[in-house]
Amino acid sequence: MVSSVVFGRGSFNQLDEILATKRKGQNAPFIFYVDDVFKGNHWLTSRITLSYKDKIVYVPTLHEPSTDQIDQLVEDVILEHSELPSGIIGIGGGIVLDTSKAVSLMLTNKGESKDYQGWDLIKQPSIYHVGIPTLSGTGAEVSRTTILTGPVRKLGINSDYTPFDQVILDPELTKDVPRDQWFFTGMDCYIHCIESLTGTYLNAFSQSYGEKALELCKEIFLEDTLSKEEAQDKLMMASWHGGMSIAYSQVGVAHAMSYGLGYLLGIKHGVGNCIVFDHLEDYYPEGVAIFKQMKAKHNIQLPQGICADLSQDQFDKMIDVALSLEPLWENAIGKNWKTIITRQKLLDLYKKM
Ligand code: ZN
Repeated sequence: MVSSVVFGRGSFNQLDEILATKRKGQNAPFIFYVDDVFKGNHWLTSRITLSYKDKIVYVPTLHEPSTDQIDQLVEDVILEHSELPSGIIGIGGGIVLDTSKAVSLMLTNKGESKDYQGWDLIKQPSIYHVGIPTLSGTGAEVSRTTILTGPVRKLGINSDYTPFDQVILDPELTKDVPRDQWFFTGMDCYIHCIESLTGTYLNAFSQSYGEKALELCKEIFLEDTLSKEEAQDKLMMASWHGGMSIAYSQVGVAHAMSYGLGYLLGIKHGVGNCIVFDHLEDYYPEGVAIFKQMKAKHNIQLPQGICADLSQDQFDKMIDVALSLEPLWENAIGKNWKTIITRQKLLDLYKKM
C-alpha cells in the first residue's frame, strides 16, 4: 500500500515541504517526471522548486511506456549523476505515474526492465518515489503495478516495492483534462469496479473499496447533481478506491483483451478498455448496460473498425497477449476458464471492434 497520502485542492503546494525531509545530499537530486502536456504551463511548473541538481524531465504521452524507454531513462539518470537520486516524482496521468514507478524500481534492480515483467520478480527496494495524478481513473497512483510494453508482452512489474511512498491527491490538477480523455480514463475506473466486484477473487477488502468507487462513478457519470469541482474531487477518490479494490483482487476480460489491442495497435488503455467493454454483455450484462447509458449521456463516440484490416497473424498475436494474462481470466471466469475461453471466442470479439 501507499504509505503516505495527502488530499485536497491546492495540496500540490505541500510538495516542497514533503520532499525537504527526504533529500540525501547535494549530489542526490530529485527527478521530476512531468506529463509533457504541462510544458510551458507555468501554472503547474512554477510551483516545482528545483535545488542543486534537481531536474524536470518532460515525458511524452503519445504512447504508453515501453521497457526500452524505461531502460533509457534509467541510463540517463545513472550517466548524469554521481549518486542515486533522493527521489523520483511523477506528475501526470497513468503513463507518467507508471514511468516514475518503473524508473524508481530499475535504479536499484540490476538488468533490464523486461526481465521484471510479471509478479514479484523485484527483490530490492526502489528509490523513494512520489505520485501526483493530474488525471483520474487509472488507479496508477495506488496500484502495485507499472504496466509496460515489452518486446514480447504487455505486462506490469507487480511487486511490493512498486507502490508510491507518497501520493498527493490534488483534484485541482485535473481541471484542464479534455472531455474524451476524462471519460475514457474515468471509465477505466468504472471497469475496474465491475471486473473486481463480479470476479471470483472478490473478498471483503476489495468489495468495500469497489462498491464505494462504483457508487461514486454512477454519481459522476449518470447524475447532474455535482458541481465541476465536486465531480473532480469525487473522481479522484473513485480512482483511488477502484485501484484499492483491484489491488487485492484482479481485473478481468476487458483488461485482458485491451492489453492485446494496446500491444498490437498501440491503443491506449482507457479507450481500449471502452472499445472492448462495449462488446462484453455476455460477461458483464449489468455493467455493460450502465456503461452504454454513460456513453450516451456524454455523447461519446468510440473508435470503430480498428480490427477491420488485421491479418490472421495479427489476431493471433493479440489473442496470445490476452490469453497470457492468466490471473485476469481466472478472476473473471473461474479456475476452469481454459475450458470456456477459446481462441475462437476471442477472435469473434476482436473482429467486432
Ligand atoms: Zn485499468
